[in-house]
Amino acid sequence: MSIRLPQEGKVIEVVNGSLKIPNEPIVAYIEGDGIGREVIPAAIKVVDKAVETAYKGKRRIVWWKLLAGKEALQKVGKLLPEETVKGIAEVKVALKGPMETPIGTGHRSINVALRKMFDLYANIRPIKYYGVPTVYPYADKVDLIIFRENTEDVYAGIEWEAYSREAQKLREFLKNEFGIEIREDSGITLKPISKFATQRIVRKAIKWAIEKGRKRVTIMHKGNVMKFTEGAFRNWAFEVAEKEFSEYVSIGKPEEGKILVDDKIADNMLQQIILRPWEYDIIVTPNLNGDYLSDAAAALVGGVGMAAGINVGDYIAIAEPVHGTAPDIAGKGIANPSAAILSAALLLEYLGWVEAAELIRASLRKTIEKGKVTPDLARGEKALSTEEFIQEVIKEI
Ligand code: NAD
Repeated sequence: MSIRLPQEGKVIEVVNGSLKIPNEPIVAYIEGDGIGREVIPAAIKVVDKAVETAYKGKRRIVWWKLLAGKEALQKVGKLLPEETVKGIAEVKVALKGPMETPIGTGHRSINVALRKMFDLYANIRPIKYYGVPTVYPYADKVDLIIFRENTEDVYAGIEWEAYSREAQKLREFLKNEFGIEIREDSGITLKPISKFATQRIVRKAIKWAIEKGRKRVTIMHKGNVMKFTEGAFRNWAFEVAEKEFSEYVSIGKPEEGKILVDDKIADNMLQQIILRPWEYDIIVTPNLNGDYLSDAAAALVGGVGMAAGINVGDYIAIAEPVHGTAPDIAGKGIANPSAAILSAALLLEYLGWVEAAELIRASLRKTIEKGKVTPDLARGEKALSTEEFIQEVIKEI
């Protein structure tokens, strides 16, 4: 099957192991379900204005709409059409909205499928304060970057339903081979964590810390209980830090001029980011911990409406807000587009268009500090619709 690229713009290429970004790159976007159809188009308008202002017409993004989720099912009869997969592989970067995943039954997550398909092993989620009204006293001290491993752990989707033939076989095997008894009415999920996947995400996080002048990389794990998965994650993380970055890092104890690489047990980490957020910087963690941590951290700065993310592999990157489809407010035109806007800023940074990304962040902050916010953030003030909000952001660019 051949794909029909837009007539204008150029595809980003990989040359000698690096991305070559043309002045008019084609960037794919997927609106997704629910509020995705509101916040992604909103984010695109903001990006276009920022790129225009930053580069005065010398650079421009050529947006290419691809389908996934309910819209794809309606129009082409598939939740994840082949053109979408091939299209992303071709253009290499995409901005994506959330997609609905049924709980307990139904189809598997399209988000997880995309991450797996393109081996987008690092889910990078910066959590920073943008002036949102809050009762949390340390909000302006929050400036964390979560590196969530994206391909393994219980999220790998290796699981069997209670009473299924597979679950029964596995229970018999465990009983016969290892004398381990599991109740027959149990569902079973596997939790694979490998040295390879651990070390490549830790490598990415430490490189990020070096490049962006960050001071601390903390490994979050529950290795005291799950010794050979989460405990091994910690040990393999330290190993790669020591072997490949000894010039730049100090392990376990602070050293002047070096990045501190240390670890925290997951439950403690969750309270530490609330009690002493200013002490933490980059946090690297397996998949499930990363999911919990990022929503908890997002709450410190105004909730999931403010939390941005980008899934990165060796070359392909898909930026997406952390939040879901918000069925309770979808279609009302009141969703907060900030997370989608900040995800688009991460995408611009990925392209090396840092000036445009910084313009977006500064204008978002100015808008929110003036009390111009969507209903999820409004505390007594009059709330703006999604469209009114982005017009205010655009005015500040
Ligand atoms: P959710 O993030 O959609 O909503 C949680 C709460 O936060 C809701 O009250 C919602 O109104 C609010 N909220 C979320 N984003 C907001 C925004 N931008 N502006 C204002 N308020 C916002 O989480 P959920 O309800 O647990 O999940 C709903 C659906 O989304 C599920 O089908 C789930 O599988 C899916 N989901 C998808 C992704 C993804 O595609 N990456 C991520 C999370 C959840």
